[in-house]
Amino acid sequence: MINIVLFGPPGSGKGTQAQNLIETFNLKQISTGDLFRFNIKNNTDLGQLAKSYIDDGQLVPDQVTIDMLISEVQKPTTAAGFIFDGFPRTAHQTLALEQIVKTELNAEIDLCLSLIVEDEILVERLLKRGETSGRTDDSNEEVIRNRIKEYYSKTAEVAELYKTQGKYVEINGVGEIAEIAEALFQEVRKIKTAQD
Ligand code: AMP
Repeated sequence: MINIVLFGPPGSGKGTQAQNLIETFNLKQISTGDLFRFNIKNNTDLGQLAKSYIDDGQLVPDQVTIDMLISEVQKPTTAAGFIFDGFPRTAHQTLALEQIVKTELNAEIDLCLSLIVEDEILVERLLKRGETSGRTDDSNEEVIRNRIKEYYSKTAEVAELYKTQGKYVEINGVGEIAEIAEALFQEVRKIKTAQD
């Protein structure tokens, strides 16, 4: 089993690259952002709670997010592992994930792949995505900048935790999609080879 955290600021290409990794390595993607949007669309209690935070570009409280993730990990799957996309985003979530993967899957996080893209490119990409995605948090520059700020203030500490475990790898997130995918694949292959 292989479990990967796909990491990087909003607009760094996590969703796109998760898709490539899923297909190549038979992984299941869990995107907490997608799960929140699904709940908002279906007007669930969870969706109503999450909406105000998301519309503001703030993080949804840890416990709500962690509980949602646990129920997703518990669903039966034939995948060979997981890609966690957009989770963890705080130190608390990082420690929770370690516990969840251990308890629910009897496994561990093997790798944190971090996509590096400079801020101005992120803003540009997100505004462009907002023209077609229908995501309210993509269409307002102030909210976008808030999300990036949240990333640096709360989420960057996640990288530090994976660094101390020797599991953190940075990948340049600017360039051809296929080229970036190849760089990610190489890192995953290293893990697989070490497991075999
Ligand atoms: P994303 O699609 O990953 O950019 O997430 C969109 C929004 O959902 C974020 O700006 C947060 O408000 C919320 N969100 C997604 N994942 C998390 C998380 N792990 N912890 C807290 N909030 C989250």
